[in-house]
Amino acid sequence: MVDLKGQYKNIKERVDSSIMNVIETTAFVNGPEVHEFQKELEEYLDVKHVIPCANGTDALQIAMMALNLKPGDEVITADFTFAATVEVIALLQLTPVLVDVDPINFNIDIEAIKKAITPKTKAIVPVHLFGLAANMDEIMAIAKEHNLYVIEDNAQGIGADYTSKDGSKKKTGTIGHVASTSFFPSKNLGCYGDGGAIFTNDDDLAHTIRGIVNHGMYVRYHHDVVGVNSRLDSIQAAVLRAKLPHLDNYNKARIEAANKYTVAFKGIENIMTPGGFDTERNISERSHVFHQYTLKILNGKRDALVNHLNEKGIPCGVYYPIPLHLQKAYKDERYKEEDFAVTNQLINEVISLPMHTELDDEQIKYITETIINFVTK
Ligand SMILES: *Cc1c(COP(=O)(O)O)cnc(C)c1O
Repeated sequence: MVDLKGQYKNIKERVDSSIMNVIETTAFVNGPEVHEFQKELEEYLDVKHVIPCANGTDALQIAMMALNLKPGDEVITADFTFAATVEVIALLQLTPVLVDVDPINFNIDIEAIKKAITPKTKAIVPVHLFGLAANMDEIMAIAKEHNLYVIEDNAQGIGADYTSKDGSKKKTGTIGHVASTSFFPSKNLGCYGDGGAIFTNDDDLAHTIRGIVNHGMYVRYHHDVVGVNSRLDSIQAAVLRAKLPHLDNYNKARIEAANKYTVAFKGIENIMTPGGFDTERNISERSHVFHQYTLKILNGKRDALVNHLNEKGIPCGVYYPIPLHLQKAYKDERYKEEDFAVTNQLINEVISLPMHTELDDEQIKYITETIINFVTK
């Protein structure tokens, strides 16, 4: 699905020397590499505060802890996402309220959010799923009307631009009150282990978060709030500093590969290419950075296609095979099946193809021909 080795080869010198430098200076924890990376990422995103932490799941949890949400507060998020999003809501004894997604762009459905709001609702967690920004204009408007926090889960969307109706352009993760991201190796900006970060433009919230990631300490050995220990390793920060200058090019390579897939599948019956964006205008507007390139296979042959691709040695993935509302850990008697019609269908139709920065034309040709031959036979 990803080619991390090919990508590493192109930046090997810088990565190797940066890692060696961390080892030589033994600044393993909170060293200069972490602080430099923080500043460079703030500049790249044009956000006031980046707070690095240990992984993307921690980032979400810490963002929610900092908002001082109370047990029983309801937090609305998408039924069709990675479990980390709902996991931290439940872990903090908040009440997850899962809602359906849009059948074309797979992002959280705006009408479903509106329908799910109650007097107990305190926050919305949109996920920029597969690298496409959620409809932030609408989500921010709903949040304003109902006085809710918006926590962007930007684990799959780093580097994506979102252009508002008024024409202003912002990076995903800088629009809501607070955002989280992950530097898991396969993410668009991945390190060589675990890593994550929280972003916010709110000075007070940033201060609170800096204490929470460090055992609730604002003054050494004074623990004002219950915190956690969540740090980005200096070695991982060194890797990320080597990769950040390439992020736009990495995303461009993904977009180009995606456009080639889309052109190849054009007009093929029973294959629906990723929607919600226009390939020609993709770079502007609501840009997609293709963390995943996800097709819908409409003729009920998705599982057979997965088997066929496995036989042909083509990696593929089903993200996600089970809706969160049907997972044992997150079942809730308030959920009604008819409210999840889209997710319930997507889990049977979606298939994600290899997507990374090193895909070449020959690989894309082999992948698309194999799929087209199978689906049209
Ligand atoms: C990867 C991911 C996370 C979690 O990130 P980790 O660094 O693996 O903890 C959270 N949300 C989404 C949508 C993700 O894709």
